[in-house]
Amino acid sequence: MTIALLISGGRVIDPANAIDEICDIWIDANGSIAGIGSFDGEADQHIDASGQIVCPGLIDMHVHLREPGQEWKEDIESGSRAAVAGGVTSMCCMPNTGPHIDHAGVVRQIIERGHQVGLCNVHPIGAVTKNLDGKELTEMRELSRAGCVAFSDDGMPIWHAGVMRKALEYASSFGFMVIQHAEELNLTRGGAINEGWVSTQLGVTGMPVEGEDSMIARDIMLARRADARYHVAHISSQGGVALIRAAQAEGLNVTTEAAPHHFALTEEEVLGFNVDAKMSPPLRTEADRLAVMEGLRDGTIAVIATDHAPHHEDDKRCGLSCAAFGIVGLETMLPVSLELVRNGILSMSDMLAKMTCNPARLLDLDAGTLSLGAAADITIFNPDSSWVVDRNKLVSKGKNTPWHGKELTGQVTTTLKAGRVVFAEGCVHG
Ligand SMILES: [Zn+2]
Ligand SMILES: [Zn+2]
Repeated sequence: MTIALLISGGRVIDPANAIDEICDIWIDANGSIAGIGSFDGEADQHIDASGQIVCPGLIDMHVHLREPGQEWKEDIESGSRAAVAGGVTSMCCMPNTGPHIDHAGVVRQIIERGHQVGLCNVHPIGAVTKNLDGKELTEMRELSRAGCVAFSDDGMPIWHAGVMRKALEYASSFGFMVIQHAEELNLTRGGAINEGWVSTQLGVTGMPVEGEDSMIARDIMLARRADARYHVAHISSQGGVALIRAAQAEGLNVTTEAAPHHFALTEEEVLGFNVDAKMSPPLRTEADRLAVMEGLRDGTIAVIATDHAPHHEDDKRCGLSCAAFGIVGLETMLPVSLELVRNGILSMSDMLAKMTCNPARLLDLDAGTLSLGAAADITIFNPDSSWVVDRNKLVSKGKNTPWHGKELTGQVTTTLKAGRVVFAEGCVHG
């Protein structure tokens, strides 16, 4: 038997199929997975993965690609290149572009551009309200037909309770998921970082944790009544995790995701006025960080997603109070999350599930597994290899990372998209 590509001798982990063993995996000429086990035959191309982990291509369900509208910060091509450099082969992009993803034409344009670039699957998330202004609902059904996989006003909360109720009711009748950036603006307006001892110390206006918790509590009540699929983006607080846990125990269809920075860092990161540690929701206290880790451990938090938010230097270099919110994350998601495995919080398989089959299941994506016949989107990484993050060497146009100059352990060596090598030896093959 001759096959197109053989990946031999790696530790193959496919959480969806409960596979975790050292074996071979081979790919046919169509770019599909043809077998897992012990291969005996000829291969046109061979990758030796000894000592490395071979897993489904990662999925990042929360990314800001900035195209259309702010291509100097990032575009679909640079974002796709950054994605595969980080081992991500499918990503969902948020609607706060210009124009917003609030009509079908923009959805089609983004999907088409993603295909043209051809490195990473790009799945748009449609706006819940027109212009993201929180007032009038978009044509969600039309957006869904055009290719949107979920709905959100991320960048902004769906702040109006009546509009949120209508959105959840409408979405519920079609089975759409509504993703909330949970922030009560009347509590957080003008704030730059978490409200607490650090904000006091620095004399910077803070955003109280109640801004996040109160909106999650409100939304759970509305989701309960609408019997809706409600998902909280980038959960960051102890209270928020407890609310989601209770809603799930009650049987509600409520889910959430955590961003690596919220389980790896605390508000102390902004001491010294570090603008690259400013994001919304902000880095919070050690108790919040531990609660997010516990939520990941006990399954309350099903997904790890980056909230990759590239900005131009001009939007960041203006002091903590006026700097833009957000950090880049695609290229550091895996090594930062591997810390959960090294600390014994999650098994390698459970950690990888949160960036493969779990988001695929939530969004009904045809990705995130190594099942026979599936498109061979595959990530190969060395879990023990250390590297120092240099913002200037990031593939993303955004250089705003809090990990600049820090050593991370875990490095993607090869990324395959539908059986084709799109990243290897530190280079993107576009
Ligand atoms: Zn957000
Ligand atoms: Zn976001």
